[in-house]
Amino acid sequence: MTLDKRFQPGVVPPAQAGGEHYWIAVDEGRVLLMEDGGRLPLPLLRSFGLTGLDAAERHYLGTLDGRHVFAVALRERAPAPPGMYFEDLRRLLVAPDPALFALAGRARQVIDWAGNHRFCSRCGQPAAPHATDRAMVCTACGYTQYPRVAPCVIVLVTRGDEVLLARSPTFPRGLYSTLAGFIEAGESVEEALVREVREEVGVRIAAPRYLASQSWPFPHSLMLGFHAEWQEGDIVVDGEEIVDAQWFAFDDLPSIPPTGSISRLLIDSYVASRRR
Ligand SMILES: [Zn+2]
Repeated sequence: MTLDKRFQPGVVPPAQAGGEHYWIAVDEGRVLLMEDGGRLPLPLLRSFGLTGLDAAERHYLGTLDGRHVFAVALRERAPAPPGMYFEDLRRLLVAPDPALFALAGRARQVIDWAGNHRFCSRCGQPAAPHATDRAMVCTACGYTQYPRVAPCVIVLVTRGDEVLLARSPTFPRGLYSTLAGFIEAGESVEEALVREVREEVGVRIAAPRYLASQSWPFPHSLMLGFHAEWQEGDIVVDGEEIVDAQWFAFDDLPSIPPTGSISRLLIDSYVASRRR
């Protein structure tokens, strides 16, 4: 879940940016795409104004495949220009090019953060963008606010040929997934893993093993993905965050999250290890 050398992040836009750039226009969780855009259907234009849409503000994100990338906050909800459409950010998870979800998620987080930090949270005076960092600085007291990232643990609990999968009441019908929860202030990752699993399904785990992470822009989480072994206890769901949880044989799984999500990666990698 990395763009390797394709993406170089940046904050300060180039003084002279000739050529065409990628524009990631985000509108309440939807992203503007080209109908005939191929694998990476972001608008590729000299200027965002060529779309005919009105940008409230723009943020430089860096370069992708050598092209500059800008996030654009739209001034108002408007229909997509001819040849373009708005797509739900979640649906980009399964896009052929992983750069699309990664960059659209980054754009959405930067735009949401900038919009939610126009004023100082300490003294209430207006804040302004930092000259070189991704930060908003209070014009009165100097308090600096950086983009919020909320770390979460996400874990596949395993027991030999079985995996523990659970349903949240918000899931689509029939879908089961791994367990996940936010890390609390003062807590280590390992402590959060043990607590979340115990709270949500009542079992104790051992031997957590880190696999991978994924930025999760709903709205600003960082998912830290683990495998962990069941140690003791029967499943007892909490009834609020989790309404059902079961042990499933690795070769007889229910409906699970789409490819591209970290929960799917955790499940697929365990299944592959049992098949070997
Ligand atoms: Zn202030």
